[in-house]
Amino acid sequence: MTQRTFSIIKPDATKRNLTGKINAVIEDAGLRIVAQRRIHMTPAQAGRFYAVHKERPFYGELVETMTSAPVVVQVLEGDNAVARYREVMGATNPEQAAEGTIRKLFALNVGENSVHGSDSLENAAIEIAQFFSEADIVG
Ligand code: ADP
Ligand code: MG
Repeated sequence: MTQRTFSIIKPDATKRNLTGKINAVIEDAGLRIVAQRRIHMTPAQAGRFYAVHKERPFYGELVETMTSAPVVVQVLEGDNAVARYREVMGATNPEQAAEGTIRKLFALNVGENSVHGSDSLENAAIEIAQFFSEADIVG
């Protein structure tokens, strides 16, 4: 089933000029980048985006790192895109990420792990709507 998922290329990756290399892994995996924009997230935007984690001990650090430099927000489209992109990203902690995954290739540590990807179809729709309007997405 064709799905859309939401992706963020995080500050640790944009700072190291890895946008193109990460996009190549995404495209080589058969996912299509159907919307993309570079933004500098405000603390309010990052705080809202990660609100589900607000009780976790790393929440403050997470908001701080996500606002430390520009990010690239994206909509990816493809067969089973939500689960497929989670596979392509690899485990949250790069030490546990499989060979060839974005996090294994590029992540610095569990916090600065280069990419975000939606964890469900429902959250994908919510996250996409936070950053894109339907007119921005050209499939
Ligand atoms: P994922 O991004 O794989 O869906 P989570 O939803 O569990 O992972 O966490 C969201 C983000 O919070 C992670 O991608 C990472 O940047 C950060 N994070 C998660 N766990 C930790 C941790 N133990 N220490 C620091 N940052 C963390
Ligand atoms: Mg998550």
